[in-house]
Amino acid sequence: MQLNTNYSNVNDSYLFSTVAKKVAAYQAAHPEKKVLRLGIGDVTLPLAPAVIAALHAAVDEMGKKETFRGYGPEQGYPFLKEAIASYYAERGVQLKNDEIFVSDGAKSDLGNILDIFSKDNVVLVPDPVYPVYVDTNVMAGRKIIYANANAENGFLPMPDYSVNADIIYICSPNNPTGAAYTKAQLKEWVNYANAKGAIILYDAAYECFIKDDALARSIYQVEGAKTCAIEFCSFSKMAGFTGTRCGYTVVPEDIVKDGLSANKMWLRRQTTKFNGVPYIVQRAAAAVFTPEGREQIAQNLAYYEENAKVIAGTLRALGVWFTGGEHSPYIWFKCPNGMKSWEFFDYLLKEAQVVGTPGAGFGVNGEGFFRLTAFGSKEVTAEAMERIKNLLSK
Ligand SMILES: *Cc1c(COP(=O)(O)O)cnc(C)c1O
Repeated sequence: MQLNTNYSNVNDSYLFSTVAKKVAAYQAAHPEKKVLRLGIGDVTLPLAPAVIAALHAAVDEMGKKETFRGYGPEQGYPFLKEAIASYYAERGVQLKNDEIFVSDGAKSDLGNILDIFSKDNVVLVPDPVYPVYVDTNVMAGRKIIYANANAENGFLPMPDYSVNADIIYICSPNNPTGAAYTKAQLKEWVNYANAKGAIILYDAAYECFIKDDALARSIYQVEGAKTCAIEFCSFSKMAGFTGTRCGYTVVPEDIVKDGLSANKMWLRRQTTKFNGVPYIVQRAAAAVFTPEGREQIAQNLAYYEENAKVIAGTLRALGVWFTGGEHSPYIWFKCPNGMKSWEFFDYLLKEAQVVGTPGAGFGVNGEGFFRLTAFGSKEVTAEAMERIKNLLSK
């Protein structure tokens, strides 16, 4: 046998383990200090009551012979796909039921979708970025090139026609930068992809944070996207499903190359290698779209948005340059006094006992930047920002 040697090229992911190690070492040396964590990329509020009620009801169904469910459709139950289609229809996007695929989350689909693409494709990834896009392609041995996201372009790189890319990753609102593309900007990416015969893998995991109508909640709000874009979305950030696991991917029927249909190939891939999301979880996900679910989830999102406002407001008052915070749970800012990401991490931990995420961990262009998240509690966020204000206005 031979192992896949591409795995030797995957960078060890030191970011979160190094953060954890440094925090543990600090806390061991200073047990009396209260460390505040604004580094987590996970939600903290519990599932909404409507979701819990749906879960309980579905569990009871599973315990009765008449309502028990075994294997379901690999691509998701019609009740959930219809609810997702209605959610898109609210923004003027019409999807066919067969274009929606329910899964156990966006991360799995983002990795698995690569099964239907040739190894010879050149992949364009923004830098800095969610590490999954890079690592999954390194594992497959694909060539990766980068689109520079930086302060000059507001961390929203635009297409460059002198660059030939086949698979293009876009995450908007972005993790880690919180930057979000307008529909007009995305139109330029759609034009580029259609002109080059490329595919856009569009990660919309944070679309629920968008309030401004000029920004895209779905790439299909942009004309021409159905021939060049696959969209990934998730209940994780929208409804706190990070531990419950449910997401969905849209593969339009119009994506056809050399007589092959991406939609049919993805269906074939999923029916071969995936046996569907648990019935009870799909019922929980469908409850997210009921009127009660929508209202309860809006309250949770408002809670995080309030935290984001507190973080952004403090940085603005300090005159620190940042992106995100308005349409995203992430705030990405320039480390003060030209400090490097890890230097600032250590400084913040030592002087204010606040933990964030060093931008350098997300790519070369992240150096000198820092990420804070709005997923913490209101009290911790307020106290952490008070400490940061005091430290940086010294
Ligand atoms: C959290 C997150 C996801 C969601 O992943 P799940 O597997 O659905 O939990 C997808 N993309 C990005 C950029 C994320 O930060």
